[in-house]
Amino acid sequence: MNVDKQSKNEILRQYYGYDTFREGQEELIDAVLDGQDVFGIMPTGAGKSVCYQVPALMMDGITIVISPQISLMKDQVRALNEMGVHAAYLNSSLTYGQYKLALANAAKGQYKIIYVAPERLETAEFLAFALNAPISMVSIDEAHCVSQWGQDFRPGYLKIKTFINKLKIRPVVSAFTATATKEVREDVTELLGLRKPKLVVTGFNRPNLYFGVSIPKDKKATLKQYVSVHSDESGIIYCATRKGVEEIHELLLKEGYPVTRYHAGLDDEERRRNQDDFIFDRKPIMVATNAFGMGIDKSNVRYVFHYNMPKNLESYYQEAGRAGRDGEAAECILLFGKKDVVTNEYFIEQDRENDELTETELEIVKAAEREKLRRMTWYCYTQGCLREFMLHYFGEEMAGGCNNCSGCLNDTEVTDVTEEAILFVKGVEQAGGHFGEKVIVEMLHGSLTPKVKQFKLDQKQAFGTLKAVSLDKLSQISRQLQMNGYIEVTSSEYPVLQTGKQAEKLLFGEEKLMLREIKKESKKKVSKARSKRASQMAKSNSIFERLRKVRLDLAREEKVPPYLIFSDRTLVEMCQKMPASEAEMLEISGVGAHKLQKYGDAFLSVIRSFGEE
Ligand code: ADP
Repeated sequence: MNVDKQSKNEILRQYYGYDTFREGQEELIDAVLDGQDVFGIMPTGAGKSVCYQVPALMMDGITIVISPQISLMKDQVRALNEMGVHAAYLNSSLTYGQYKLALANAAKGQYKIIYVAPERLETAEFLAFALNAPISMVSIDEAHCVSQWGQDFRPGYLKIKTFINKLKIRPVVSAFTATATKEVREDVTELLGLRKPKLVVTGFNRPNLYFGVSIPKDKKATLKQYVSVHSDESGIIYCATRKGVEEIHELLLKEGYPVTRYHAGLDDEERRRNQDDFIFDRKPIMVATNAFGMGIDKSNVRYVFHYNMPKNLESYYQEAGRAGRDGEAAECILLFGKKDVVTNEYFIEQDRENDELTETELEIVKAAEREKLRRMTWYCYTQGCLREFMLHYFGEEMAGGCNNCSGCLNDTEVTDVTEEAILFVKGVEQAGGHFGEKVIVEMLHGSLTPKVKQFKLDQKQAFGTLKAVSLDKLSQISRQLQMNGYIEVTSSEYPVLQTGKQAEKLLFGEEKLMLREIKKESKKKVSKARSKRASQMAKSNSIFERLRKVRLDLAREEKVPPYLIFSDRTLVEMCQKMPASEAEMLEISGVGAHKLQKYGDAFLSVIRSFGEE
């Protein structure tokens, strides 16, 4: 391989307009250039594309990128073309004529990078091309799709290994995903046939994202209020059901917002149109079910608002992570209501997607789902740092709070509930692992409900020992006990409480249980990153708006999404530095040589005229 390692920084500068690599990027690029397979596990927005695109541009041959979604491929190819790189995609969105033409061009070596849907790999035409082309790398985007453990399993991904084995010279193979679980990691390595891959796992923390949870009395009013404050920004609002999407879409439409919708009940044509309206910022607010989003690279999404709680933290982090891909401050807000738990429980019980599973296997899968749902619910009830909670769930530790989530910013009061907690655990012990939380709370509270009477729980010592504590607070204590492992819930269809592995530490006085309650939800306090951005914006608001307008006009002319011309982050930097010449413009992160030539003048003249005023 003819590799010039020195030039990776130049490539980053010239095409992307960035000065430095982000965490993990350089390591992965170097390994690829050394001919080693790589496996990058990085959160959404970390910059995985750069990891295969930069070496692709430096190696002699062609890089084939396998990607699961048409929209994702289109977006990446558009972005590359905008930067001045010849790239193409081959998927079912092309007519047969276009497909043949693209293959013919590819055979002539016109493209450095070719995006392909996995199903294409085995077709005779594609193979005829691939077996005769100098392929230097096969790169697999969203590599978790090969695993049945992941949420997005795509059988087509199983063909990738066979395809690679058919090639005369084995190219370097690079795989990327944002899903970090052990099962997925093992599957990717095995099923894609990675050879001694260089594994790079970067942290999952996304410092630019503010996380907030709220349990409002009136969700609609809360949403309306939120959208009105953020009316000039692009955002996604997720609802649990199609009906919910329709309702919220209607609500915002009536209020006059530029809003569109997406769910599996709409026909293909409308889904495509609505998605484009969103991506091109014609309708910058999207109301959708979780069917929307995979393959959405829109970098200027300033908020992701969950109107309902999703089924697990994996889904939540993936969906919320679609905010702020440009690195600018963005918000992820979740509205929780007890009904959300019921809806998700229903979804779990109804899940018949895996018809191949036996009854026993299905029950195991469901038990795992219930456990995940429980953790998701805990997240909503966490009164501490939300980021800490989430990162811990993904196996990363963080301490001291982030100061950029509602957990850290709300006014809270911490009380010692160790005494009550001990009585609670004793009650669980006496109930002998036969009863769920509701019945145990009733027993402790001394409520003579039919169940309590039927099972003679009123004759237990624990009956009424926590009479003075409200039912609601007892539920909170129960949750807190579960989170700390003092009690456990079985994951069967009818979950029961039993003492947990850590129970003795509490019972023997080694540990205390603290309960943190929200005194007042903070409305005034805004996350640090956000207030910084807000003040920058206020100062340069009119110049920012003008730059945004030029970007939108250019995007309409060029028929590309605005964020592909320049990201919000790049515009913000222009506002701060006010470049006056082409050379100064090139210093702005995100302005590469090709884009400078194409768009530089338009932006420079706006900045100049603003300066003169
Ligand atoms: P991922 O695929 O990991 O979700 P992307 O490849 O879409 O992330 O990158 C997210 C954003 O970060 C893009 O706008 C990209 O241009 C930008 N980016 C990537 N690498 C860098 C870098 N080294 N410096 C600045 N921005 C970067």
